[in-house]
Amino acid sequence: MAVRRALIQEADCIGCGKCTPVCPTDAIVGAPKFLHNVLEADCIGCERCVPVCPVDCISLVPMQDQFNPAKLTQDARKARSSYVRTLISARKIRLERERSEEEREFRLIKKALHEEVKDQRFARRAFLEKLLNP
Ligand code: SF4
Ligand code: SF4
Repeated sequence: MAVRRALIQEADCIGCGKCTPVCPTDAIVGAPKFLHNVLEADCIGCERCVPVCPVDCISLVPMQDQFNPAKLTQDARKARSSYVRTLISARKIRLERERSEEEREFRLIKKALHEEVKDQRFARRAFLEKLLNP
C-alpha cells in the first residue's frame, strides 16, 4: 500500500475536472471550473491523477499517520483495506448506474427521433396526395 497521497495546489487548479474520472476511489471532489480537492482518507496514492493534470498542480505528499499503512496496527490496516475496497465497489456501482441511465436516455432520444421522422413522412404523403388528387 502507498504511503503517499495526492495533494492539489489550490492556487494553480483550473477546475478542468480531468483528474476526477481517473481516480479509482472517487477521492477527488470539485465542481466544473472550480477548485478541486483530494479527500485524504479516500486517497490510496495510486498516482493516476498526476499525469492527467494539464497544469501539473497535483503532487504526492506523505500520508498522515492515521492513513499511512506503514504506521497502522494490523487490525487498523485490515480495516483501512476494507474501507478502500468499499470505495472501489461504490465507484463501480455508480459508473454502472450512470451507464444504464445514459443508455436509457439514448434509447428515448432515438425513439423520439424515429417518431418525428414518421410524422414528417406522413405529413409529406398527405401533402402529395392532396396535390395529386385536389
Ligand atoms: S492518487 Fe489515486 S487515489 Fe489519490 S486522488 Fe489521485 S487518482 Fe485518486
Ligand atoms: S486536473 Fe488539475 S487543474 Fe484540472 S481539476 Fe484536477 S487538479 Fe485541477
